[in-house]
Parts: sequence; C-alpha cells; structure tokens
Amino acid sequence: MRILLADDDSVTQHLLSRTLQVAGFDPVIVSDGLAAWERLQVEYFPILIVDWVMPGLDGPSLIRQVRKTTFSGYVYTILLTSRQAQDDRVDGLESGADDFLTKPVDLRELRARLVVASRIIQLETRLREANARLAYQASHDRLTDLFNRPTITEYAESELARMQRTGQNLSLALLDIDDFKPINDRYGHMAGDVALRHVGMRITAAVRPYDWVGRWGGEEFLIVLPEANVEQAYIIAERVRESIAAEALALNPDLAVRLTVSGGVTCTGERKDVSVDTLFAEADEALYCAKRAGRNRIMRANEVSP
Ligand code: GH3
Ligand code: MG
Ligand code: MG
Repeated sequence: MRILLADDDSVTQHLLSRTLQVAGFDPVIVSDGLAAWERLQVEYFPILIVDWVMPGLDGPSLIRQVRKTTFSGYVYTILLTSRQAQDDRVDGLESGADDFLTKPVDLRELRARLVVASRIIQLETRLREANARLAYQASHDRLTDLFNRPTITEYAESELARMQRTGQNLSLALLDIDDFKPINDRYGHMAGDVALRHVGMRITAAVRPYDWVGRWGGEEFLIVLPEANVEQAYIIAERVRESIAAEALALNPDLAVRLTVSGGVTCTGERKDVSVDTLFAEADEALYCAKRAGRNRIMRANEVSP
C-alpha cells in the first residue's frame, strides 16, 4: 500500500521510511506540505503521514485542504507531533486528522497504527466497490448489460436539454426485433435471451462512442444520438439493422437463426421546445410503420407524420 510521508526532518524521514518498508508499505517521502499537496494532485495515496510543523504548508493546513478535496478513495491521515498539550490535539483532530503519532516515533506504535489505518482503508474500499456495484445494477439491464429504461430516459432528457441549449439536433432511434416471439416459442426462452444479448452487442458495436444505448422494453432498444440530424440518425440505424441482418446467430453448432430488426427514427430538427415524450412517441409511430411496411427496415418520423 502506498504511503505519502511529509516531514522536513531527515532523521525522521530515514527512520520512518525504513520502518514503513519493513512493514510492507511503499512510502514516498517529501520534505514539506506543499510538495505533499502537489504529489497528491498527481497520484492517490490511501495513507498520508504528515509532520505538524513544516515550512510552507504545515500539517493541519495540508490535512484541511485534503479534506476539502475529492480523491479516488479515502485518504487516512496521521499527524506527527511533539506537542503534548490537549488543545493541540483537538486542533489536529479539527483539521481532519484521523490519528496522531508523538515524536520521537515509537516504531511498534507506528506499525500498530498502520494496521488500524489499513483496516479503515479496506473497509472504505469495500464500501466504495459495493456502492459502485449497486449503482451499476440500478442503472443497467441485467440481461443485456445495456442501460435500463429509467436510465436511458434520463440520458435522453439530459441530452435533449443540452442540445436545446447549444442549438443542435438530438435524434432517437427505437428498434424492435422482428418476429421474436417465435424464437422463444421454437427454441426456448434461453435462446431468446441469447438473441437479445446478441442484438444488444450488435447495436453497441455499430453506434458512435458518444451515443447511448438502452433496453427500452422486452425486445425493444432505444439509441440516443446527440448531434445527429434525421439523415445521420437514419444512416446509423440502417448500419445497425444491416449488421444484425447480415449474419445469422448460431444458437448452437447446428442451429443458426436469422434475426432482423425494424426501427423508427426521429429528430428535434427546427423544433426548439419539443419534449422528450413527443420524440419517444414519434419514434414509436415510425417503428410501427416500419413493421406494417414489412419489417427489417428503418423509417423516419417525417416520412410517416408530415
Ligand atoms: P414483431 O415483429 O411485430 O415485433 O413481433 P414479435 O414477435 O417480435 O413481437 P411480440 O411483441 O409479439 O413478442 C415479443 C416477445 O418478446 C414476447 C416476449 O415473450 C419476448 N420477450 C420479452 N422480454 C424477453 C426476455 O427478457 N427474454 C426472452 N427470452 N423473451 C422476451
Ligand atoms: Mg418484436
Ligand atoms: Mg416489441
């Protein structure tokens, strides 16, 4: 584990760095608070050991700055002090320090305190990972790993607001797998799930990196296309359609199924105040027309509702 040690006294630097290495840590030594602050801008350190009195930025001031800043994880801070007075300790804690070590540092005590620090860091890391997992689960569809409907709706809303601010186009493409029910009926629900994942991956591979893809419903997918006019959106949706139709999906070595999708595309165009619900309805209507017109095709909303 990386430790940043800031102390202007070379004897302390030497002693602590040896002990930290022996204890299995990976210390980086700097000689004052400003150097520590600069180092923290470049690299995350889970543990920071700082001397109280240093030229430039002293220990408590450095810790106060650290507490105001967001790093990629928690920074556990230990203040080194030769001060014994209780008031000083209160000041140190108020600056945001997690622990104290009195100089001259007792090396056994240092090791014991680092055990505590590591435990806190591990707890924090686990909590952070659990939160990230929960946030992912709450925003993604379990089967396809695409954004789920509430999340893709949020992206559509925020992209619409952004495009309206900057005076650019926002397009939406709603795709639906053709004759999907027979796949479930003939080959089973698991095969249907494989087909859904396959289509999801095909869509993701065919869109631009800054487009958003979500599972809209059962076998429907929504693509949010910022800065695309209706023709550009149509071209992207066509590319998706072709890539799905081009190659049959091998459900097993002896069974390949042909999959196609139909799609409806719509765009904000000149309408500055159009709502996201209107866009959803237009894409849905265009999709419905593509189905009626024979499937495996993309239709633009302006073709169906002048
Ligand atoms: P169309 O070309 O008109 O779209 O016909 P379709 O058969 O694709 O449409 P329909 O709405 O009749 O059927 C959709 C099917 O999708 C029915 C439903 O069981 C299936 N489905 C929805 N969600 C899932 C899922 O998560 N897994 C599987 N395997 N099937 C699903
Ligand atoms: Mg369908
Ligand atoms: Mg459907």
